[in-house]
Amino acid sequence: MTETKDIYLDNNATCKVSPGVRDAMLPFLNDLYGNPSSMHSFGGKVAQHVTKAREQVAALLNVSPDEIVFTSCGTEADNHALRGVMEKNRELKTGKDHIITTKVEHPAVLNVARYLGKKGYKVTELEVDRHGNLDLEKLKAAITPQTAIISIMAANNETGTLFPIEEIGAIARENGVVFHTDAVQAVGKIPLDLKKIPVDLLSLSGHKVHTPKGVGALFVRKGTKISPFMLGGHQENGRRAGTENVPYIIALGKACEEAMNGIFEENNRIRQLRDKLEKGLTEKISHTHINGNPQWRLPNTTNIGFEFIEGEAILLHLSAAGIAASSGSACTSGSLEPSHVLMAMDTPFSYAHGSVRFSLSKYTKEEEIDYVIETVPPIIHKLREMSPFYDPSK
Ligand code: PLP
Repeated sequence: MTETKDIYLDNNATCKVSPGVRDAMLPFLNDLYGNPSSMHSFGGKVAQHVTKAREQVAALLNVSPDEIVFTSCGTEADNHALRGVMEKNRELKTGKDHIITTKVEHPAVLNVARYLGKKGYKVTELEVDRHGNLDLEKLKAAITPQTAIISIMAANNETGTLFPIEEIGAIARENGVVFHTDAVQAVGKIPLDLKKIPVDLLSLSGHKVHTPKGVGALFVRKGTKISPFMLGGHQENGRRAGTENVPYIIALGKACEEAMNGIFEENNRIRQLRDKLEKGLTEKISHTHINGNPQWRLPNTTNIGFEFIEGEAILLHLSAAGIAASSGSACTSGSLEPSHVLMAMDTPFSYAHGSVRFSLSKYTKEEEIDYVIETVPPIIHKLREMSPFYDPSK
C-alpha cells in the first residue's frame, strides 16, 4: 500500500491553527462567555483577557495597546484604513482627495482604492519593476498637496517581495501624508518595530499567524485622523462597533505571543527550508525562474515560474501527489489568467502562466521539503512533454 502524503505549502493562503492558540480559546467557548462590556463579574473576567490579548498584539509590534483595534479580518482592517482616512478628510474639508497605492496590492486594498476612485477620489496605482520593487522616486513624484494616504503593502502575498516601509513612511511623514501598510503577510514572519517604522496604520490578519479565520487588527497610531468603519456601540473606544469576538481575539493575542517568541529562530529554520526547496527545484529543473526579489523577501515564500506549462496543471498533479501549493493569491487562484501581481511585474508570458507559489510555516518539516524536491521534477517533465510550447532544444 502506498502512503498518502499531506504536505501543506499554501500557508500564505491560510494556515493551521496552533494547538496553543486553540487551547487558549477554549475557556471562552465554555464558561468564560460573558460580554466584556457588561458591568457584572461575567463581563469583567472576560474583559481582563481581552485587555491581555490587546497587550500581546501590541507587544509584537512594539506599540501601545490602545493603538490596536480588533477587526473581523485583514480585509476589514484594509477597508477601515482607506475608507476611514478618506471619509475623515472629506468631513474635515481638507481638500485632500488623493490615494496612492501600487498595482501589486492584495484586492483588499486595490479594490477599495478602485471603489473610492469610482466615488470621485483620485487614485494613483504605482508600477513595480520585474522583481516587484517600487521606485521611491516615482512615489515621491506622485505625491501632491491633495494626497491624503499612501497605502503600500509590507510584503507581497504572491512573491514575498518586501517593500521598504521604513523609507516609504519617512517620505509620507515629510509630506504630511498618512501611511498605511497592509502587513497581513509580514506580521509574525519578519520583526516589525513600529517605534522605528513611521507607519500610521497597519493591517494584520489572524489566520496568517495560526488563528482560525475571522479575526484581524488595525494598528492606528495615536493622533491619526480616521473615521470609524463600523458604527454602533462604543466597543474598541468607539473605533469599531460590534460585540467583541472574544474567543478569536484571545486567539490573536496568543498567536502574536507565539510569533514573538519564534520570530528569529523559527523563521531562520523556515528560510533554510525555503532555500533548500528553491535550490533543489531550480537545479533539477531547467527553464525555471524565481518571481519576486530574490534577496529582499519573506523567509517562507517562493514563487517559481516553470516555462512552457500551465500553473493549474502543475497544481492538479501536485495535489494528486499530496502537495498543496497555489498558483497565485487565494483570491485569484480560481482564474486561469496570470495573477495581477505577475502581470504588473511584466513576467514573461512563457512562465507567467506556469508559476507556482510554495509558502511554508513553522509546521513544515524537512522530510516534506525533500519529498517535494523529489516529486516535482518528474511532474514538470511529463507536463512539458505534452506541451505544444515546449522545445527541448532550447
Ligand atoms: N492582505 C494580504 C496581503 C493578504 O495576503 C490577505 C489574504 O490573503 C488579505 C489582505 C486579506 O486578509 P483576510 O483573509 O484576513 O481578510
